[in-house]
Amino acid sequence: MTTLKEQLKTTGKYSTILENNGIKSIKELLQYFPRSYEDRSFIQPLSELVLNEKWIATTKGKIIEKKFSPRRGRKVYEYTFTDEQGQLGQISIFNSWYLASKIKEGERYIIIGKPFFKWGKAFFNQPEIIPTTDTSEWQSIIPNMGRIYPIYSELYGIRPAWFVEKIWTVLDKIEDLFDEHLPIEFLKEYNLLGVKETLKNIHFPENYDLQKAALQRIFFDRLLRVQLHSLLQKEEYEKKSLKRFDESDPRREIIKTFIDKLPFTLTNAQKKVVKNCIESIHDKKPMMALLQWDVGSGKTIVAAIIAYYMYTLKNKQSIFVAPLEVLANQHHKTLAKLFLPLGIRNELLTWSTPKSEKERIKNDIREGRIPIIIGTHALLQEDVGFHDLWFVVIDEQHKFWVRQRAVFKKFGNPDILQMSATPIPRSMALAFFWEFDVHIIDELPKGRQPISTKIISENEYIKLKPRILSKINEGQKVFVVTPLVEESEKLEEVKAATSEYREIQEIFPELKGKIGLIHGKMNSKDKEETMTKFKNGNYCLLVSTTVIEVGVDIPEATIMIIKNSERFWLSQLHQLRWRIGRSDIKSYCFLETKKKTGDSYKRLQAMEETNDWFKLAELDLKNRWPWEILWTMQSWQTDIPIEILSDLKFIEKVQEGAKWLLEHYPKLKWLDKLKIYLEEKIGDILA
Ligand code: ADP
Ligand code: MG
Repeated sequence: MTTLKEQLKTTGKYSTILENNGIKSIKELLQYFPRSYEDRSFIQPLSELVLNEKWIATTKGKIIEKKFSPRRGRKVYEYTFTDEQGQLGQISIFNSWYLASKIKEGERYIIIGKPFFKWGKAFFNQPEIIPTTDTSEWQSIIPNMGRIYPIYSELYGIRPAWFVEKIWTVLDKIEDLFDEHLPIEFLKEYNLLGVKETLKNIHFPENYDLQKAALQRIFFDRLLRVQLHSLLQKEEYEKKSLKRFDESDPRREIIKTFIDKLPFTLTNAQKKVVKNCIESIHDKKPMMALLQWDVGSGKTIVAAIIAYYMYTLKNKQSIFVAPLEVLANQHHKTLAKLFLPLGIRNELLTWSTPKSEKERIKNDIREGRIPIIIGTHALLQEDVGFHDLWFVVIDEQHKFWVRQRAVFKKFGNPDILQMSATPIPRSMALAFFWEFDVHIIDELPKGRQPISTKIISENEYIKLKPRILSKINEGQKVFVVTPLVEESEKLEEVKAATSEYREIQEIFPELKGKIGLIHGKMNSKDKEETMTKFKNGNYCLLVSTTVIEVGVDIPEATIMIIKNSERFWLSQLHQLRWRIGRSDIKSYCFLETKKKTGDSYKRLQAMEETNDWFKLAELDLKNRWPWEILWTMQSWQTDIPIEILSDLKFIEKVQEGAKWLLEHYPKLKWLDKLKIYLEEKIGDILA
């Protein structure tokens, strides 16, 4: 077998780069898709070009003069050419004797570049230059022109043009290397291009319609995989679930006795979710529910009611899992308050539970003596054996479901309630959490005051000092959130927070020792400790990067200042903002910015105008929020662009396709391969 290096006639260096990036064969090279295209379909005379330095153009000319004119240490080679109509144009080549030497006076060339207008002429800086003759057989011979031209991403020093050249030479291999994996009937039904057509037209599209169709097929395929996966998961989960409730009618009186004892009345939204969940528990299939809404909207109590129901009716165990120890502690406190007076035992189990105690608790769990268990998710990785686990509550963690499926299997696939305060627009939820029923608590508990939000300048920020001090004197607490920096600049983010921390200490000498700092470079123990100090009142002002965790309940926090707020996306601002406003005291959010114009300012104005979570999330989606936060959920889905993920119709169509396929072709070989593929990918995440 010949190696990729020999097949492509390339260097060892290049083939190593390719291999390191998962391109080990021609087949894989053919799956390296262009990121965009240039329209090089037409050769135009200079008089027809748009000279704006932005748009690519192809023209043809004969070199009539060559000049070498060094400029400020740069070697500049200048060429004057005339096009077919006799109009003059100019080419400049910088610093490359090699390129320059290939251009000869009196010869004709195709010139491709982004021309601009100067001194009455069209100028091309460093264009692509291809020798030509008067005849135009070129169209079928070289890839660089006379067509829609693919632009590939550079790959560790391998230039985009290299991919054009190589993929062009192996394009005819598509016929043998790829087989259609979907039934022809399916392609017809869903109006999709075949795989071979798709690949040819993704690299070198015959026209823009075919290029679009090819792209459509690729995204359809990717989303179809995700959807089929969800569907198969759901089926499997249901098949293996030990079910359970024989009474067909929900026992409302059990719920009623519990909620009658609560110190508050449930909102209608909460009642509705409880009702839906209880019905779903009584259903033959296990419950898989996603409960969404803002932090502080009262999701935990909903979960508690269901756990109570499980225990009272069937004497079964429930577990509450949180991503962080502070959150687990918080849940434990809340749940203890609810359950202890009723004589229902609940225990907290985290990594800091002392070893001997841990063993004792684990033992009691195994023997069925503890109906309500609260812990961090590390808990599930340990060898905790449950007596009768029927209900799992997962708080604030999207990845969790994917990661822990195997774990739940061990316990007979219990009912699951995922809770999330990250706004997931409908189309996204449909694409990724399809197997879950989505519930929403779009109503805040009574007595909560809406948070007032105000955009402020740097000066106004300083002027807030007396107000902040007086609120702190009343026992309230303050967050100062420092700017978000790109992921790759984590260090910068920490620097910004640290310098803000120093500044704040200078501004508030009165608060000596009562100001905390929290950022992403701290280890989780220190983070937890800082958070706890803030919660307990040792700190009254907390300077923080965006790491302040979702879900931590600090009712006394009533002021939040977000610095350089124009750098945040709305969903992030909104999530940050909801860490205040969690009691009946009026809360204020200040969005500091130096920029009072443009799109980012408009975004901030939207924050002033509305507290509606979905509205803001959808605005983000329109503004192409990169959704990195969600991307980390299921890393194998990263290659579906946001336009597709916000297209509800498209997602619904793919979903229908997934069902159609399983119904009409349940024995399709590709499905088996797909299962293995997805299991491996999920394996990656688990590792
Ligand atoms: P979430 O999990 O949605 O962030 P929590 O369940 O932690 O919110 O609730 C936040 C606070 O609101 C808790 O202190 C809880 O006791 C309280 N709460 C929940 N529901 C209501 C209600 N209907 N009326 C008043 N307070 C409520
Ligand atoms: Mg919560």
